[in-house]
Amino acid sequence: MAVGDMNYLDMEIKQIRLAKMATFCYLIGDRASRACALIDPAFETDRILEKVRENHMRVTHVINTHAHSDHTAGNEAVKAATGAKILIHELDAGRLQAFMNKTFSRVLGGKGSPKPDVLLKDNDIIGIGDSSLKVLHTPGHTPGGICLYTQGNVFTGDTLFVGAVGRTDLPGGSMKTLLASIQEKIYTLPADTIVWPGHDYGPFPSSTVGQEKDNNPFTL
Ligand SMILES: [Zn+2]
Ligand SMILES: [Zn+2]
Repeated sequence: MAVGDMNYLDMEIKQIRLAKMATFCYLIGDRASRACALIDPAFETDRILEKVRENHMRVTHVINTHAHSDHTAGNEAVKAATGAKILIHELDAGRLQAFMNKTFSRVLGGKGSPKPDVLLKDNDIIGIGDSSLKVLHTPGHTPGGICLYTQGNVFTGDTLFVGAVGRTDLPGGSMKTLLASIQEKIYTLPADTIVWPGHDYGPFPSSTVGQEKDNNPFTL
């Protein structure tokens, strides 16, 4: 894969398991500049922002792997506290603002999301300080679902879990499309790439591309 335009400076990764719905939020920081991105800061935004402070980071980007409320309900609180930009794939952007997203976000105790600042496409590079993340468009769970790749690590949202895959019975879902996304975009990464899923649904909180390729019953 073409990665010549990416910078892999020293990045710091923190996996934060949220109490509700076993959602994982990720803090990805650029060690030199202390800029960081939060992936899916859905709940407990005070605890997430405390973690950011503990690590002497500042949030420049909120990146949603997709528009579902269990990944986006905290967008508004994080943006209000930090001024970070909100980024989501262009095909999920409309759903972020949809009535159902707001409703479910409130049920879950969050406020939902303001309008996104940046619409993402496949292969976009997101600069975090002097480091970068690459956008892998992986439709199937939702039409605008993405994974985020940086050297040695892939954040898979609700596309791929440890030992499972995302559900495809919700609006816009397709199992055929999801499996093709996993095969083409995730299983082509180096086997030792760490898989960081969007929920703690498996026997372990993370895995590797090789491990899932060999053992995930949904993709064998
Ligand atoms: Zn989802
Ligand atoms: Zn989810």
